[in-house]
Amino acid sequence: MLIDFIINFCILFTFAILTYIPFQNRLKVYIPSSKYTPYILGILSGFTGCLLMLTAVSISDFVIMDGRMAVIALSGVLGGPVATIISGTIIGVFRLFMYGYSTTSLIAGSSTIIVGVVIGFWSWKKTMTFRNVHYFFGYSIVQTSIVLGFLGNWKFETWLAIISFILYSILSFFIIFVILKQLSSLFEKIKHIEEMSITDYLTGLNNNRKFQEYTYNLLSKGEIFSLLLLDIDYFKKVNDTYGHPVGDEVLKELALRIKEASNSFGGIVSRNGGEEFSVLLPNTSENKSLEIAELIRQAIEKNAFPISTGEKLAITISGGISTFPQDAATTHELYKLADEALYLAKASGRNKVVHTNQNKLV
Ligand code: GH3
Ligand code: MG
Ligand code: MG
Repeated sequence: MLIDFIINFCILFTFAILTYIPFQNRLKVYIPSSKYTPYILGILSGFTGCLLMLTAVSISDFVIMDGRMAVIALSGVLGGPVATIISGTIIGVFRLFMYGYSTTSLIAGSSTIIVGVVIGFWSWKKTMTFRNVHYFFGYSIVQTSIVLGFLGNWKFETWLAIISFILYSILSFFIIFVILKQLSSLFEKIKHIEEMSITDYLTGLNNNRKFQEYTYNLLSKGEIFSLLLLDIDYFKKVNDTYGHPVGDEVLKELALRIKEASNSFGGIVSRNGGEEFSVLLPNTSENKSLEIAELIRQAIEKNAFPISTGEKLAITISGGISTFPQDAATTHELYKLADEALYLAKASGRNKVVHTNQNKLV
């Protein structure tokens, strides 16, 4: 009997892991359309429930024990009410006809369908999550135990069956949900680390790594785009006068302003390091990029930056631009040209933007 329990649990466990991972969308295994997720999950859970009943542990002539309630509960957490109703119905109908029709089958099967429907409607009112699933599961166990007792006329063996059923259900449910909870928190952490690896910690902008990825994608597309590099004028003075933390405040405010000013042009803003920022401008020609860069420059110059000391600092930036494919065909070349243009903007008085072609003219 122990082996039977283990086999039953293994099927339940395999189902839990196989359905949990893709439906959590965490490992980038995407299901085509989330609209169908509850139906797919409901049907999968239903079939798993049937498989569990086929390998169920026989407790007495009329009682079979398996993890079907855990499957129904799990389908509710992952797929919502519709999944629960579908799985409950499939499992219940299968139970009705599995051993040929009898009063026992009718009662046991109907009870399973009722569990699916009740949990379905209940979770419509209150969404099922890993946090509250034990209430729903608890209900299914209580109802099933009462049905077992009723079918077995509350004899001594019936009580034994009920206790075994409750113990097996709780234990299997507990193990599976603890593991899934652990997996959830692991996936959360992975997601967080993934985000951190592409985000600049100070400003929340894309970091250099993400910038490289965006540039590579734009280059692969082959369409025109411009690269604008921005650098704060005399930033060292801000740090020297007010200290590094105030310098950081300026960097944060600057990030917000650059983002706001370039948003409507589809600009992809990154902090490439230190006080250097970049804006990738998809589908943007040389002339247009100069216009946009000028707007960004003005957005910084227009209003002084408030800092925590209560003062307001006049901040200006300089910019250098290069355009793909007219100026260069690689990230490295584009960056170099934009940087040279930036240098020219600095050398010719700062607080201005220069395109690499103007650089050549000079
Ligand atoms: P220029 O107009 O020529 O660009 O002058 P600048 O003073 O801005 O140029 P420089 O490159 O000499 O100085 C950049 C300064 O930026 C030096 C460094 O202390 C400061 N810096 C770099 N990263 C950070 C940062 O994360 N926080 C703060 N507060 N300062 C930073
Ligand atoms: Mg600099
Ligand atoms: Mg600077």
